[in-house]
Amino acid sequence: MATEPFIVCPLCQGRGTQTLHGAAFTADEIDEQGPEFLEDMMEGVYDHPCDHCGGKRVTTDTEWNDWQERRHEQEMGY
Ligand SMILES: [Zn+2]
Repeated sequence: MATEPFIVCPLCQGRGTQTLHGAAFTADEIDEQGPEFLEDMMEGVYDHPCDHCGGKRVTTDTEWNDWQERRHEQEMGY
């Protein structure tokens, strides 16, 4: 099996973590939660390993394409 070159994970841009699945919260919702919530979020309390690379920060084109297809299927309600 040929070794595919690694690419920087497009989902987390190489950070390896995500904050609450990206922009899951609107500014209004953050306001409701109060300043502590925002502070915690900024400090990464709610960060979790990237959904795609799981914190490796890199992936391959094949893995990325497969993952996008799987996610698309989930969004379609499978
Ligand atoms: Zn990632």
